[in-house]
Amino acid sequence: MDVDAIVIGGGHNGLVCAWYLARGGKRVLVLERRGVVGGAAVTEEFVPGFRNSTASYTLGLLDPRIIADMNLHAHGLSIVERPYANFLPTDDGRYLLMGGDQSRAAIARFSEGDAAALPDYERRLDAVARVLRMLADRAPPDVGGGPGDVARAINQAWRLLRLPIEAKRDALDLFTRSAREVLDGFFESDPIKAVLGFDAVVGNYASPDTPGSAYVLLHHVFGEVNGKAGQWGHAIGGMGAVTQAMARACEGAGVTIRTDAPVARVLATGKRADGVELADGSRIGARIIVSNVHPKALLLYMVPPDTLDAGLRARMARHANGSGTFRINVALSALPRFAVLSEPGDHLKSGIILAPSLDYMDRAFTDARAHGWSRRPIVEMLIPSLVDDSLAPPGQHVASLFCQHFDPAITGGWDMHRDAAVATIFDTVEAAAPGFRQSVIGHLALAPDDLEARFGLVGGDIFHGRMSLDQLWSARPMLGMAGYRMPLAGLWLCGSGAHPGGGVSGRPGRNAARTILRGR
Ligand SMILES: Cc1cc2nc3c(=O)[nH]c(=O)nc-3n(C[C@H](O)[C@H](O)[C@H](O)COP(=O)(O)OP(=O)(O)OC[C@H]3O[C@@H](n4cnc5c(N)ncnc54)[C@H](O)[C@@H]3O)c2cc1C
Repeated sequence: MDVDAIVIGGGHNGLVCAWYLARGGKRVLVLERRGVVGGAAVTEEFVPGFRNSTASYTLGLLDPRIIADMNLHAHGLSIVERPYANFLPTDDGRYLLMGGDQSRAAIARFSEGDAAALPDYERRLDAVARVLRMLADRAPPDVGGGPGDVARAINQAWRLLRLPIEAKRDALDLFTRSAREVLDGFFESDPIKAVLGFDAVVGNYASPDTPGSAYVLLHHVFGEVNGKAGQWGHAIGGMGAVTQAMARACEGAGVTIRTDAPVARVLATGKRADGVELADGSRIGARIIVSNVHPKALLLYMVPPDTLDAGLRARMARHANGSGTFRINVALSALPRFAVLSEPGDHLKSGIILAPSLDYMDRAFTDARAHGWSRRPIVEMLIPSLVDDSLAPPGQHVASLFCQHFDPAITGGWDMHRDAAVATIFDTVEAAAPGFRQSVIGHLALAPDDLEARFGLVGGDIFHGRMSLDQLWSARPMLGMAGYRMPLAGLWLCGSGAHPGGGVSGRPGRNAARTILRGR
């Protein structure tokens, strides 16, 4: 087959990259290992009659310009907003319901001061997020690069320098401090700190007391759905509907997509990548090879070892990696009834957070460090079938349980512990919503090992590498490899392991394609 570019992996970033390359005039082939495209953004049947977003489950980071460029709505994408953002039961029998106009009054029931502080918190995070959004749309400068990178560094540094001094200080805090330190600077009551601090431990095997954990607090203001900033939503049909729409857009742009086509290795002549070999031994050549796979898998297992220097391989082996995430999809015969608010209502359409304080989250982490997993895990539950009747039979429901902390490198592997971990998670939900267990018809449990086996997420890392200052911007995935260019000529990275990182944003894929088309 005669192609200009091969994209290894049909995750959402691979599809976005393929689309922009095709629109730039390239003949593009996407090779996906699984029988379905989408990577971690996919919808699958997990119990007969019950479908759900298998891994990622909530939409808010996808760049609206990518939705518009790829015309995803015309290709079937429809996003609904949830009436409330979060519902958090507290230990004293109360709850915090966040979202809409009533957030302030809801917070005031715990602390008048916290209610007054929320607008200032959001304004200050937003000031930082605005600049980071701009940086997220551009290839970062490469420290080993040429004059173009110097210009890029000056341009991007200039945007940061123009920030008011308060925003500069806030940015420094967010990148270096713990979530607790930042939140303590604004709030006094546990529930609001827990609702906001939850973002800091998502996919991050860390405590809210870990320095640098504050960075992901920005997700609170980063989201945007249907033109509404700070909003998260649900794609009708689940996250797979996003990537199926992307696949249709790709095919419309002339991209060829092959599923069940695992790539075994990248082929190179000298120091130039010029093709791939599939697991079945067949070979395909192209001048542009773009990888959507985790950078560790690419550089340690797929690129010929003799084309990389030993120091680089050793450093990549130490790439900080591994989420403490355990994901369960549950088929339910009935809706859960939470002890603190038992009647069904719109609170069930929100992200339900079972973790009432930062202390609880810290204990969940220290527990996992000591025992392999949290005895009282941090659980977020979403019930997408309440806003999308395509997922479950009438009158029945599906729930996504997104749980932390579960040691990605547990001794003996997760086969030995998976069932016990599921029991712990179900106990946690049962304690908050008595009767939950009885309503479970079936489930699919994905421990960190399963996320790696099913999706190729090395170490179960949901972001293709830790999102900390040492692995962001010009250092993503590693200093000297910024700007999507890998150490072999003709080899590029377009997945979450590249700037600006993980989440269903499409930005790494779009930025990589632009860089490749510019021929940098
Ligand atoms: C449990 C979980 C929950 C999450 N929740 C959210 C959420 O709610 N919202 C959000 O925005 N983000 C969420 N994320 C993060 C987000 O889903 C990921 O960061 C993002 O989907 C990664 O996209 P990607 O295209 O970069 O890579 P991936 O989705 O990992 O795609 C890589 C693709 O490459 C394929 N591949 C791997 N090896 C090969 C090979 N050898 N040959 C061919 N193909 C190969 C894989 O099969 C896969 O399709 C979550 C992730 C997980 C795992």
